[in-house]
Amino acid sequence: MGIKVAKFGGTSVADAKQFMKVKAIVQSDEQRCYVVPSAPGRRFSGDEKVTDMLYLCHQQVQNSIPFEQTFDAISERYREIVRELGLTLELESHLSEIRQRIAEGASADYVASRGEYLNGLILAEYLNYDFIDAKDVIRFDENGRYDEELTNEILSERLKKHKRAVIPGFYGSMPDGATKTFSRGGSDITGAIVARAAQAEVYENWTDVSGFMVADPRIVKDTKPIKQITYRELRELSYMGATVLHDEAVFPVRKAGIPIHIKNTNAPEHPGTKIISEPNLSEIRPGSITGIAGKKDFTVIAIYKNRMNSEIGFVRRMLSVLEENRISFEHLPSGIDTVCIVIETSQLNGKLDKVVQGIREACEPDTIDIYPNMALIATVGYGMAYTPGVAARIFTALYKENINIRMIDQGSSEINIIVGIENDVFEKAVQAIYNAFAEFLE
Ligand code: ASP
Repeated sequence: MGIKVAKFGGTSVADAKQFMKVKAIVQSDEQRCYVVPSAPGRRFSGDEKVTDMLYLCHQQVQNSIPFEQTFDAISERYREIVRELGLTLELESHLSEIRQRIAEGASADYVASRGEYLNGLILAEYLNYDFIDAKDVIRFDENGRYDEELTNEILSERLKKHKRAVIPGFYGSMPDGATKTFSRGGSDITGAIVARAAQAEVYENWTDVSGFMVADPRIVKDTKPIKQITYRELRELSYMGATVLHDEAVFPVRKAGIPIHIKNTNAPEHPGTKIISEPNLSEIRPGSITGIAGKKDFTVIAIYKNRMNSEIGFVRRMLSVLEENRISFEHLPSGIDTVCIVIETSQLNGKLDKVVQGIREACEPDTIDIYPNMALIATVGYGMAYTPGVAARIFTALYKENINIRMIDQGSSEINIIVGIENDVFEKAVQAIYNAFAEFLE
Protein backbone atom coordinates (compact mmCIF):
# COMPACT_ATOMS: atom_id res chain seq x y z
CA MET A 1 0.00 0.00 0.00
CA GLY A 2 1.45 3.36 -1.03
CA ILE A 3 1.84 6.23 1.39
CA LYS A 4 0.16 9.61 1.04
CA VAL A 5 1.53 12.70 2.72
CA ALA A 6 -1.16 15.28 3.50
CA LYS A 7 -0.19 18.88 4.21
CA PHE A 8 -2.90 21.17 5.56
CA GLY A 9 -2.59 24.93 5.08
CA GLY A 10 -3.39 27.63 7.66
CA THR A 11 -7.10 28.01 6.95
CA SER A 12 -7.53 24.21 7.09
CA VAL A 13 -6.32 24.20 10.71
CA ALA A 14 -7.59 27.62 11.81
CA ASP A 15 -10.06 26.40 14.45
CA ALA A 16 -11.71 23.29 15.93
CA LYS A 17 -14.30 23.10 13.17
CA GLN A 18 -11.52 22.92 10.58
CA PHE A 19 -9.60 20.32 12.63
CA MET A 20 -12.72 18.14 12.45
CA LYS A 21 -12.70 18.34 8.67
CA VAL A 22 -9.02 17.45 8.67
CA LYS A 23 -9.66 14.39 10.82
CA ALA A 24 -12.48 13.23 8.57
CA ILE A 25 -10.20 13.62 5.52
CA VAL A 26 -7.24 11.81 7.11
CA GLN A 27 -9.39 8.97 8.41
CA SER A 28 -11.21 8.47 5.13
CA ASP A 29 -8.04 7.06 3.57
CA GLU A 30 -5.67 4.92 5.57
CA GLN A 31 -2.85 5.65 3.14
CA ARG A 32 -2.65 9.17 4.66
CA CYS A 33 0.15 8.18 7.04
CA TYR A 34 2.03 11.46 7.44
CA VAL A 35 0.35 14.77 8.10
CA VAL A 36 2.01 18.20 7.99
CA PRO A 37 0.05 21.14 9.46
CA SER A 38 0.59 24.90 9.16
CA ALA A 39 -0.09 27.29 12.02
CA PRO A 40 -3.71 28.43 12.46
CA GLY A 41 -4.57 30.81 9.63
CA ARG A 42 -7.49 33.18 9.15
CA ARG A 43 -10.93 31.97 10.27
CA PHE A 44 -12.76 34.76 8.45
CA SER A 45 -11.72 37.69 6.32
CA GLY A 46 -10.06 40.32 8.48
CA ASP A 47 -8.93 37.71 11.03
CA GLU A 48 -5.28 37.42 11.99
CA LYS A 49 -2.91 34.56 11.22
CA VAL A 50 -1.16 33.14 14.28
CA THR A 51 2.22 33.36 12.50
CA ASP A 52 1.75 37.11 11.98
CA MET A 53 0.83 37.51 15.65
CA LEU A 54 3.94 35.58 16.70
CA TYR A 55 6.17 37.79 14.56
CA LEU A 56 4.46 40.75 16.20
CA CYS A 57 5.29 39.41 19.68
CA HIS A 58 8.91 39.16 18.64
CA GLN A 59 8.94 42.72 17.33
CA GLN A 60 7.25 44.03 20.43
CA VAL A 61 9.95 42.49 22.62
CA GLN A 62 12.64 43.92 20.35
CA ASN A 63 11.10 47.38 20.73
CA SER A 64 10.50 46.99 24.47
CA ILE A 65 6.74 47.15 23.99
CA PRO A 66 4.62 44.78 26.13
CA PHE A 67 3.83 41.63 24.12
CA GLU A 68 1.57 39.91 26.69
CA GLN A 69 -1.69 40.98 25.14
CA THR A 70 -0.70 39.65 21.73
CA PHE A 71 0.51 36.42 23.26
CA ASP A 72 -2.72 36.05 25.25
CA ALA A 73 -4.70 36.29 22.03
CA ILE A 74 -2.53 33.55 20.49
CA SER A 75 -2.89 31.36 23.60
CA GLU A 76 -6.66 31.76 23.49
CA ARG A 77 -6.81 30.48 19.95
CA TYR A 78 -5.01 27.28 20.91
CA ARG A 79 -6.96 26.87 24.14
CA GLU A 80 -10.20 27.15 22.23
CA ILE A 81 -9.13 24.48 19.72
CA VAL A 82 -8.05 22.06 22.48
CA ARG A 83 -11.22 22.71 24.48
CA GLU A 84 -13.61 22.35 21.58
CA LEU A 85 -11.95 19.15 20.41
CA GLY A 86 -12.17 17.77 23.95
CA LEU A 87 -8.44 16.94 24.13
CA THR A 88 -6.44 16.33 27.29
CA LEU A 89 -3.21 17.83 25.91
CA GLU A 90 -1.29 19.71 28.58
CA LEU A 91 -1.16 22.94 26.62
CA GLU A 92 -0.41 25.37 29.46
CA SER A 93 3.13 24.17 30.13
CA HIS A 94 3.99 24.62 26.43
CA LEU A 95 2.43 28.08 26.37
CA SER A 96 4.29 29.26 29.46
CA GLU A 97 7.60 27.97 28.16
CA ILE A 98 7.07 29.78 24.86
CA ARG A 99 5.97 32.96 26.65
CA GLN A 100 9.11 32.81 28.75
CA ARG A 101 11.41 32.35 25.77
CA ILE A 102 9.77 35.21 23.88
CA ALA A 103 10.24 37.47 26.92
CA GLU A 104 13.91 36.49 27.01
CA GLY A 105 14.32 37.71 23.43
CA ALA A 106 14.23 34.41 21.48
CA SER A 107 14.92 34.69 17.73
CA ALA A 108 12.17 35.59 15.25
CA ASP A 109 12.50 32.14 13.67
CA TYR A 110 12.00 30.34 16.96
CA VAL A 111 9.00 32.48 17.89
CA ALA A 112 7.34 32.09 14.46
CA SER A 113 7.91 28.33 14.42
CA ARG A 114 5.82 27.86 17.57
CA GLY A 115 2.65 28.34 15.53
CA GLU A 116 3.25 25.09 13.66
CA TYR A 117 4.77 23.35 16.68
CA LEU A 118 1.66 23.78 18.84
CA ASN A 119 -0.69 22.91 16.00
CA GLY A 120 1.38 19.77 15.39
CA LEU A 121 1.08 18.67 19.00
CA ILE A 122 -2.67 19.23 18.98
CA LEU A 123 -3.24 17.49 15.67
CA ALA A 124 -1.10 14.50 16.68
CA GLU A 125 -3.19 13.94 19.77
CA TYR A 126 -6.45 14.51 17.93
CA LEU A 127 -5.57 12.01 15.18
CA ASN A 128 -3.85 9.66 17.59
CA TYR A 129 -0.70 9.87 15.46
CA ASP A 130 2.91 10.09 16.71
CA PHE A 131 4.47 13.55 16.89
CA ILE A 132 7.83 14.18 15.22
CA ASP A 133 9.35 17.55 16.04
CA ALA A 134 10.55 19.13 12.79
CA LYS A 135 13.66 20.46 14.55
CA ASP A 136 14.96 16.90 14.82
CA VAL A 137 14.49 15.97 11.19
CA ILE A 138 14.58 19.08 8.97
CA ARG A 139 18.11 20.45 8.78
CA PHE A 140 19.73 23.67 7.64
CA ASP A 141 23.49 24.21 7.25
CA GLU A 142 25.54 26.76 9.19
CA ASN A 143 24.73 29.41 6.56
CA GLY A 144 21.03 28.86 7.04
CA ARG A 145 20.57 27.06 3.74
CA TYR A 146 18.26 24.07 3.69
CA ASP A 147 20.36 20.87 3.73
CA GLU A 148 18.43 18.63 1.42
CA GLU A 149 20.49 15.45 1.49
CA LEU A 150 21.15 15.43 5.24
CA THR A 151 17.46 15.99 5.90
CA ASN A 152 16.44 13.24 3.55
CA GLU A 153 18.78 10.81 5.24
CA ILE A 154 17.65 11.66 8.80
CA LEU A 155 13.98 11.96 7.98
CA SER A 156 13.65 8.77 5.94
CA GLU A 157 15.31 6.80 8.76
CA ARG A 158 13.03 8.41 11.32
CA LEU A 159 9.84 7.78 9.35
CA LYS A 160 10.61 4.06 9.30
CA LYS A 161 10.00 4.08 13.05
CA HIS A 162 6.59 5.73 12.81
CA LYS A 163 3.79 4.24 10.79
CA ARG A 164 1.65 7.33 11.30
CA ALA A 165 2.93 10.73 12.38
CA VAL A 166 2.34 14.46 12.40
CA ILE A 167 5.33 16.63 11.47
CA PRO A 168 4.80 20.39 11.88
CA GLY A 169 5.59 22.50 8.82
CA PHE A 170 7.71 25.60 8.25
CA TYR A 171 10.79 25.01 10.43
CA GLY A 172 13.80 22.88 11.20
CA SER A 173 17.13 23.48 12.90
CA MET A 174 20.69 24.62 12.28
CA PRO A 175 23.77 22.55 13.22
CA ASP A 176 23.96 24.38 16.58
CA GLY A 177 20.36 23.44 17.35
CA ALA A 178 18.90 26.91 16.74
CA THR A 179 15.46 26.92 15.16
CA LYS A 180 15.33 28.07 11.55
CA THR A 181 12.24 28.62 9.39
CA PHE A 182 11.71 28.53 5.65
CA SER A 183 10.38 31.67 4.00
CA ARG A 184 6.72 32.55 4.54
CA GLY A 185 4.31 29.88 3.36
CA GLY A 186 7.08 27.33 3.91
CA SER A 187 4.94 24.53 5.30
CA ASP A 188 4.37 23.58 1.67
CA ILE A 189 8.10 22.87 1.49
CA THR A 190 8.03 20.69 4.59
CA GLY A 191 5.17 18.68 3.09
CA ALA A 192 7.20 18.10 -0.07
CA ILE A 193 10.29 17.10 1.91
CA VAL A 194 8.29 14.58 3.95
CA ALA A 195 6.74 13.19 0.77
CA ARG A 196 10.18 12.65 -0.73
CA ALA A 197 11.58 11.02 2.40
CA ALA A 198 8.54 8.74 2.71
CA GLN A 199 8.74 7.90 -1.01
CA ALA A 200 5.09 8.75 -1.05
CA GLU A 201 2.78 7.83 -3.88
CA VAL A 202 1.35 11.36 -3.79
CA TYR A 203 1.87 14.63 -1.93
CA GLU A 204 -1.54 16.03 -1.08
CA ASN A 205 -1.63 19.74 -0.46
CA TRP A 206 -4.92 20.61 1.24
CA THR A 207 -5.90 24.26 1.08
CA ASP A 208 -8.99 26.47 0.79
CA VAL A 209 -9.34 26.48 -2.99
CA SER A 210 -10.05 23.59 -5.33
CA GLY A 211 -6.69 23.75 -7.07
CA PHE A 212 -5.62 25.90 -9.96
CA MET A 213 -7.99 27.67 -12.28
CA VAL A 214 -7.37 28.09 -16.00
CA ALA A 215 -7.36 31.87 -15.43
CA ASP A 216 -7.48 34.18 -12.41
CA PRO A 217 -11.09 33.93 -11.14
CA ARG A 218 -11.03 37.61 -10.21
CA ILE A 219 -10.76 38.35 -13.93
CA VAL A 220 -12.57 35.43 -15.56
CA LYS A 221 -15.67 34.87 -13.45
CA ASP A 222 -16.63 31.42 -14.71
CA THR A 223 -13.13 30.02 -15.16
CA LYS A 224 -12.81 26.25 -15.30
CA PRO A 225 -10.46 24.42 -12.94
CA ILE A 226 -7.29 22.73 -14.17
CA LYS A 227 -7.58 18.99 -13.53
CA GLN A 228 -4.05 18.09 -14.47
CA ILE A 229 -0.91 20.11 -15.09
CA THR A 230 2.75 19.24 -15.47
CA TYR A 231 5.47 20.69 -13.27
CA ARG A 232 6.84 22.60 -16.25
CA GLU A 233 3.54 24.20 -17.10
CA LEU A 234 3.01 25.08 -13.45
CA ARG A 235 6.42 26.68 -13.26
CA GLU A 236 5.58 28.89 -16.24
CA LEU A 237 2.22 29.86 -14.75
CA SER A 238 3.38 30.51 -11.21
CA TYR A 239 6.30 32.53 -12.46
CA MET A 240 3.72 34.69 -14.21
CA GLY A 241 1.75 35.28 -11.06
CA ALA A 242 -0.55 32.28 -10.47
CA THR A 243 -0.06 31.27 -6.84
CA VAL A 244 -1.34 28.40 -4.74
CA LEU A 245 1.86 26.63 -3.84
CA HIS A 246 5.17 27.89 -2.50
CA ASP A 247 7.60 27.91 -5.47
CA GLU A 248 10.26 25.89 -3.72
CA ALA A 249 7.73 23.25 -2.67
CA VAL A 250 7.76 21.83 -6.11
CA PHE A 251 11.43 20.88 -6.28
CA PRO A 252 11.81 18.05 -3.74
CA VAL A 253 8.85 16.10 -5.07
CA ARG A 254 9.50 16.85 -8.69
CA LYS A 255 12.96 15.40 -8.35
CA ALA A 256 11.53 12.26 -6.81
CA GLY A 257 8.82 11.99 -9.47
CA ILE A 258 6.01 12.31 -6.90
CA PRO A 259 2.81 13.99 -8.08
CA ILE A 260 1.27 16.80 -6.04
CA HIS A 261 -2.47 16.85 -5.58
CA ILE A 262 -4.01 20.18 -4.60
CA LYS A 263 -7.26 19.59 -2.73
CA ASN A 264 -9.83 21.72 -0.92
CA THR A 265 -10.38 20.94 2.79
CA ASN A 266 -13.77 22.65 2.56
CA ALA A 267 -14.82 20.66 -0.51
CA PRO A 268 -12.98 17.34 -0.31
CA GLU A 269 -15.13 15.74 -3.01
CA HIS A 270 -13.88 18.25 -5.62
CA PRO A 271 -11.27 16.57 -7.84
CA GLY A 272 -8.75 19.42 -7.33
CA THR A 273 -5.62 19.75 -9.47
CA LYS A 274 -3.00 17.06 -9.99
CA ILE A 275 0.53 18.15 -10.78
CA ILE A 276 2.42 15.46 -12.68
CA SER A 277 5.93 15.01 -14.09
CA GLU A 278 5.30 14.16 -17.69
CA PRO A 279 2.39 15.19 -19.87
CA ASN A 280 -0.13 12.48 -20.56
CA LEU A 281 0.05 12.89 -24.31
CA SER A 282 -2.88 10.65 -25.10
CA GLU A 283 -5.16 12.82 -22.94
CA ILE A 284 -4.13 16.17 -24.36
CA ARG A 285 -6.37 17.71 -26.94
CA PRO A 286 -4.26 19.30 -29.68
CA GLY A 287 -4.73 23.06 -29.71
CA SER A 288 -5.99 23.22 -26.14
CA ILE A 289 -4.36 25.23 -23.38
CA THR A 290 -3.72 24.49 -19.71
CA GLY A 291 -3.70 27.95 -18.19
CA ILE A 292 -3.35 31.68 -18.60
CA ALA A 293 -1.49 33.92 -16.18
CA GLY A 294 -0.03 37.36 -16.31
CA LYS A 295 1.47 40.30 -14.52
CA LYS A 296 1.35 44.04 -14.90
CA ASP A 297 4.02 46.69 -14.58
CA PHE A 298 6.87 45.85 -16.87
CA THR A 299 9.03 48.25 -18.84
CA VAL A 300 10.26 47.29 -22.29
CA ILE A 301 13.41 48.83 -23.72
CA ALA A 302 13.36 48.27 -27.47
CA ILE A 303 16.70 48.69 -29.20
CA TYR A 304 17.10 48.94 -32.95
CA LYS A 305 20.33 48.92 -34.90
CA ASN A 306 20.79 48.26 -38.57
CA ARG A 307 22.78 45.03 -39.15
CA MET A 308 22.68 44.18 -35.45
CA ASN A 309 22.59 40.50 -36.39
CA SER A 310 26.13 40.59 -37.75
CA GLU A 311 27.64 42.65 -34.92
CA ILE A 312 29.62 40.47 -32.55
CA GLY A 313 29.14 41.10 -28.84
CA PHE A 314 26.17 43.47 -29.17
CA VAL A 315 23.86 41.68 -26.73
CA ARG A 316 26.68 41.00 -24.31
CA ARG A 317 27.56 44.70 -24.12
CA MET A 318 23.91 45.57 -23.72
CA LEU A 319 23.44 43.09 -20.89
CA SER A 320 26.59 44.18 -19.13
CA VAL A 321 24.92 47.60 -18.69
CA LEU A 322 22.12 45.85 -16.81
CA GLU A 323 24.64 43.93 -14.75
CA GLU A 324 26.50 47.10 -13.80
CA ASN A 325 23.21 48.58 -12.63
CA ARG A 326 22.29 45.37 -10.81
CA ILE A 327 19.10 44.84 -12.76
CA SER A 328 17.77 41.45 -13.82
CA PHE A 329 15.60 41.11 -16.89
CA GLU A 330 12.67 38.79 -17.54
CA HIS A 331 12.64 38.26 -21.29
CA LEU A 332 14.76 39.10 -24.26
CA PRO A 333 12.78 38.73 -27.47
CA SER A 334 14.81 39.59 -30.54
CA GLY A 335 14.49 40.12 -34.29
CA ILE A 336 17.13 40.58 -37.00
CA ASP A 337 17.93 44.18 -36.16
CA THR A 338 16.03 44.58 -32.90
CA VAL A 339 16.18 43.33 -29.39
CA CYS A 340 13.80 44.12 -26.54
CA ILE A 341 14.66 43.92 -22.86
CA VAL A 342 11.67 43.24 -20.65
CA ILE A 343 12.23 44.36 -17.07
CA GLU A 344 9.97 44.47 -14.05
CA THR A 345 9.37 48.18 -13.52
CA SER A 346 10.01 47.88 -9.77
CA GLN A 347 13.55 46.64 -10.59
CA LEU A 348 14.39 49.84 -12.42
CA ASN A 349 13.82 51.95 -9.37
CA GLY A 350 14.80 55.32 -10.89
CA LYS A 351 17.68 53.83 -12.90
CA LEU A 352 16.01 53.90 -16.33
CA ASP A 353 17.85 56.99 -17.63
CA LYS A 354 21.17 55.61 -16.51
CA VAL A 355 20.50 52.29 -18.19
CA VAL A 356 19.42 53.90 -21.47
CA GLN A 357 22.49 56.14 -21.44
CA GLY A 358 24.71 53.14 -20.71
CA ILE A 359 23.25 51.17 -23.64
CA ARG A 360 23.71 54.17 -25.94
CA GLU A 361 27.38 54.33 -25.07
CA ALA A 362 28.06 50.60 -25.11
CA CYS A 363 26.06 49.64 -28.20
CA GLU A 364 25.59 52.81 -30.27
CA PRO A 365 22.12 51.76 -31.45
CA ASP A 366 20.11 53.66 -34.08
CA THR A 367 17.10 54.07 -31.80
CA ILE A 368 15.97 53.15 -28.31
CA ASP A 369 12.25 53.19 -27.50
CA ILE A 370 10.83 52.84 -24.02
CA TYR A 371 7.43 51.29 -23.38
CA PRO A 372 6.49 51.73 -19.73
CA ASN A 373 3.29 50.30 -18.19
CA MET A 374 3.37 47.01 -20.03
CA ALA A 375 1.66 43.83 -18.93
CA LEU A 376 2.66 40.32 -19.93
CA ILE A 377 0.27 37.43 -20.41
CA ALA A 378 1.49 33.87 -20.74
CA THR A 379 -0.70 31.24 -22.34
CA VAL A 380 0.66 27.86 -21.35
CA GLY A 381 -0.01 24.27 -22.32
CA TYR A 382 1.44 21.13 -23.85
CA GLY A 383 -1.59 21.07 -26.13
CA MET A 384 -0.12 23.95 -28.07
CA ALA A 385 3.21 22.35 -28.84
CA TYR A 386 3.41 21.15 -32.44
CA THR A 387 -0.14 22.34 -33.07
CA PRO A 388 -0.56 25.00 -35.71
CA GLY A 389 -3.07 27.77 -35.13
CA VAL A 390 -2.69 28.33 -31.39
CA ALA A 391 -0.77 31.58 -31.75
CA ALA A 392 -3.19 32.70 -34.44
CA ARG A 393 -6.09 32.05 -32.09
CA ILE A 394 -4.51 34.22 -29.38
CA PHE A 395 -3.66 37.04 -31.77
CA THR A 396 -7.09 36.97 -33.44
CA ALA A 397 -8.80 37.14 -30.06
CA LEU A 398 -6.78 40.21 -29.10
CA TYR A 399 -7.25 41.79 -32.53
CA LYS A 400 -11.03 41.40 -32.24
CA GLU A 401 -10.93 43.30 -28.94
CA ASN A 402 -8.83 45.98 -30.59
CA ILE A 403 -5.88 45.25 -28.29
CA ASN A 404 -2.49 46.17 -29.63
CA ILE A 405 0.23 43.55 -29.08
CA ARG A 406 3.57 45.24 -28.43
CA MET A 407 5.67 42.15 -27.99
CA ILE A 408 5.49 38.42 -28.63
CA ASP A 409 7.76 35.81 -27.12
CA GLN A 410 7.42 32.12 -27.63
CA GLY A 411 9.70 30.13 -25.35
CA SER A 412 11.78 27.53 -27.15
CA SER A 413 9.88 24.89 -25.19
CA GLU A 414 6.81 25.69 -27.30
CA ILE A 415 4.53 25.31 -24.31
CA ASN A 416 4.31 29.01 -23.66
CA ILE A 417 3.37 32.06 -25.73
CA ILE A 418 3.84 35.42 -24.06
CA VAL A 419 2.29 38.64 -25.31
CA GLY A 420 3.10 42.13 -24.10
CA ILE A 421 0.22 44.62 -24.02
CA GLU A 422 -0.61 47.86 -22.19
CA ASN A 423 -1.42 47.59 -18.46
CA ASP A 424 -4.89 49.07 -18.85
CA VAL A 425 -6.16 46.38 -21.23
CA PHE A 426 -4.73 43.51 -19.17
CA GLU A 427 -8.02 42.16 -17.78
CA LYS A 428 -9.77 42.50 -21.13
CA ALA A 429 -6.94 40.61 -22.83
CA VAL A 430 -6.97 37.72 -20.33
CA GLN A 431 -10.73 37.34 -20.80
CA ALA A 432 -10.38 37.46 -24.59
CA ILE A 433 -7.72 34.72 -24.63
CA TYR A 434 -9.77 32.59 -22.24
CA ASN A 435 -12.86 32.91 -24.45
CA ALA A 436 -10.86 31.92 -27.49
CA PHE A 437 -10.02 28.56 -25.91
CA ALA A 438 -13.19 28.01 -23.88
CA GLU A 439 -14.48 25.37 -26.30
CA PHE A 440 -11.52 23.12 -25.44
CA LEU A 441 -11.98 23.35 -21.69
CA GLU A 442 -14.01 20.78 -19.81
N1 ASP B 1 2.70 29.66 9.04
C1 ASP B 1 3.68 30.04 8.09
C2 ASP B 1 3.26 31.31 7.37
O1 ASP B 1 2.22 31.87 7.66
C3 ASP B 1 4.04 28.95 7.15
C4 ASP B 1 2.89 28.36 6.36
O2 ASP B 1 1.73 28.55 6.74
O3 ASP B 1 3.14 27.70 5.37
O4 ASP B 1 3.98 31.78 6.53
